[in-house]
Amino acid sequence: MNVDDHAEALASDLGVDKEEVKADLQNLIEYSVPIDEAKQSLRRKYGDGGGSSSAPSTADIADVTTDMGNVTITAKVLTVGKRSIRYQGNEQTIFEGELADETGKISYTAWNDFNLDAGQVITAGNAGVREWEGKPELNLGDSTNVAREETDLDVPYEVGGDATLAEVTPGDRGVALEVTVLEVENKVIDGRDGETEIKSGVVADESARLPFTDWEARDEVTEGAALRVDNVYVREFRGVPSINFSEFTTVGPLARDVDVNDSATRMSVREAVETGGAFDVEVLGNIVAVRDGSGLIQRCPECGRVVQKGQCRSHGQVDGQDDLRVKAIVDDGTGTVTAILDDELTAEVYGGGLDKARQQARDAMDQEVVADTIREKIVGHEYRVRGNLSVDDYGANLEASEFAETDDDPVDRAKALLTEVDA
Ligand SMILES: [Zn+2]
Repeated sequence: MNVDDHAEALASDLGVDKEEVKADLQNLIEYSVPIDEAKQSLRRKYGDGGGSSSAPSTADIADVTTDMGNVTITAKVLTVGKRSIRYQGNEQTIFEGELADETGKISYTAWNDFNLDAGQVITAGNAGVREWEGKPELNLGDSTNVAREETDLDVPYEVGGDATLAEVTPGDRGVALEVTVLEVENKVIDGRDGETEIKSGVVADESARLPFTDWEARDEVTEGAALRVDNVYVREFRGVPSINFSEFTTVGPLARDVDVNDSATRMSVREAVETGGAFDVEVLGNIVAVRDGSGLIQRCPECGRVVQKGQCRSHGQVDGQDDLRVKAIVDDGTGTVTAILDDELTAEVYGGGLDKARQQARDAMDQEVVADTIREKIVGHEYRVRGNLSVDDYGANLEASEFAETDDDPVDRAKALLTEVDA
């Protein structure tokens, strides 16, 4: 369904003008509000209780389904994350996290401040149920009553958002971490309120390392700082989980040292691909091919896409800028991944930079010779490739930060393996 279809369905549901609904819907989508959330907001705005007119029933969390319009549940608050979104041109603060009872747990979004705290037991009367990434989620809004319960509820989940970096997944909210800042860089971005200073880099703990963004560019976030960070949310960025410090995140010094995991995680290609995307992993495999679009290439000066015969897919005829790149297929016997080498790594394997590549292409009157030279050097050899892995419908890409031929002779290794087996 496109925006038009959604607007039409919603307008007829609510009995209001389609164009008005469409304008509102587009406005919300422009501010990255997911379509389901946007529709829910508009239902509230145009005075629909949330879909169902029947009285909500009391339910166990495990029994909540997306077919239910509204439910009443009694649950313990596991986490409370605070975030601000832009709604109808205004900033709005929302609260997100998880609720649990004896039967299960469920995500929620609270559109009002119900003073929720982790560990509280509440009864949420008339909470809306919506579908979020295929699962039911609760919406606590104007029509929801939230009451505190005196009796405790024993739930099989940890209360509070404490997590390690290895445990977090995109979509987590209200997370608390103890990390060391490994790398940090100041950036100025064109935000929704004009130019904004942010910090981004890499944080680490005993379990893993992940990229982060501090949208408030806090002074405490400096290289080497050991920090306790409360109320962060996790998003997917270029296929890997990314930690986000919002305006509501609290950052404080940590009294202890964090024992940082400094090496990339070595994985088989299959394991890596099964993660669906991973930060800083390392695979070891044979280069079986160098794909088209490698060697000396031209990029669109507007968008950076590779141009074919001077044509950019988005910008038409452009004056392409020369660049070097390698897309090499790595096979370790469990699967294949495409290693993508930037200009510097490409220059290393090619044995020269842009000038040499241009010269070779001119001499041969064919720029494919650069890719051919690289092919001859690396295909059939074993390489250790380190980088960030992303997986999409077209396959798995490993954006390489290191690309090194393994020193050991495969024959030697086979002998060593045999010795091991014999022993
Ligand atoms: Zn372009």
